[in-house]
Amino acid sequence: MISAADALRLVLESAPAPMPAEPVGLLDAVGRTLAVGLVATANVPPADNSALDGFAVRAADLTAPLTISGTVRAGDEPGRLTVAPGAAVRISTGAPLPDGADAVVPVEQTQTNGLFLTILKPFAAGHGVRRCGTDLAIGQSALAAGTVLTPWTVATAAALGRMIVAVHRRPVVAVVTSGDELVPADTPDPLPPGKIRDANGPMLAALIWASGGEPRLIPTAPDRELPLAQALISARETADLIVTVGGVSMGEHDLTRRVLTGLGYNEQFWQVAQRPGKPLAFGTWDAVPVVGLPGNPASAAVCFDRYVRPLLWAMTGREPHRPAFHATLTAPLAHLPGLTHFVRVHLTTDEQGRWLAHPTGDQTSHRTRSLAAANGLLILPPTAADPTSGAAVTAELLS
Ligand code: AMP
Ligand code: MG
Repeated sequence: MISAADALRLVLESAPAPMPAEPVGLLDAVGRTLAVGLVATANVPPADNSALDGFAVRAADLTAPLTISGTVRAGDEPGRLTVAPGAAVRISTGAPLPDGADAVVPVEQTQTNGLFLTILKPFAAGHGVRRCGTDLAIGQSALAAGTVLTPWTVATAAALGRMIVAVHRRPVVAVVTSGDELVPADTPDPLPPGKIRDANGPMLAALIWASGGEPRLIPTAPDRELPLAQALISARETADLIVTVGGVSMGEHDLTRRVLTGLGYNEQFWQVAQRPGKPLAFGTWDAVPVVGLPGNPASAAVCFDRYVRPLLWAMTGREPHRPAFHATLTAPLAHLPGLTHFVRVHLTTDEQGRWLAHPTGDQTSHRTRSLAAANGLLILPPTAADPTSGAAVTAELLS
């Protein structure tokens, strides 16, 4: 059995090259990764302008009262007015700095008496002035390739007029569910005796989309070799990545690995020293990675987060690892020696700003509610002893 750390390393070593670029409207591209960086093709701001409402002046003139010789507003053409020696021009935030002026004095630091202006304290040259190109200068990298577009990056792209950007295409991820007990999730109550709803298919579709992939759900296959093989072949047709769920444990009806191997899948590992998700399988079929997730929803979700999400991030040109930090555990946990434990937790902060990790109750892997209550995961390394309440543990926020 390999360690969780080695398993992740092998998965990432098999990651196909990042998907090719496609043009996408800026707002639809939020959450996706830039395939081509944005270089400034114009200066932002395009001209020197005022950072505040006040008076454009010559800093050397400020000791004597000044004459107010005009007004310049945001949107006015640069160069329309000049500040002569001994004069000041009324200016609003964002208005072009008049020729001759080298500072803007805030209105709060002035007194006006008709056309005369007194400045209440000295200001140095450059005060209150935003210079041309100080946000973005022509030729400067504005957003690097590999940047995940967030709402905050939209302002930079929009300021450069880049309303269409080149992002990595979403990898198509085929999801193969299997099990004689499964019926589609939209089957109404009462369910046929012995059946349960396919909870994993919809969950994986949501996880794939949220991780930057394009989910393709293959209709659930029964626990028989021929239909399972047909489902896998249909998955293979357009997939950049295949995720199977269920049928990778020790049971007599766990056929997924055997059928995959018959089709030419080359297994790299099966079984990982972790909880949940020990039966995880991974290999490649031609060059397409295949991740065999265990069927219990919590195992499937956690294994997706630890292995499939990083793979999708790599395939979309993104750094695969999430930042981790220390949190304080608020309840004791049992830890089996030799296994990496991934514990579903709710993360909060206390008044001092410290992270607290509250386990989401019974961690048995069939419980979907232990997932629903979680916004993070704890990663307990294989060597850890049973962590007590108050222990410092490593945590990740899920989003
Ligand atoms: P398996 O790995 O096939 O032995 O499945 C382990 C457990 O997960 C069993 O209780 C299955 O009924 C359950 N399971 C498998 N696939 C799904 C699914 N798509 N949705 C909900 N539960 C599932
Ligand atoms: Mg099964």
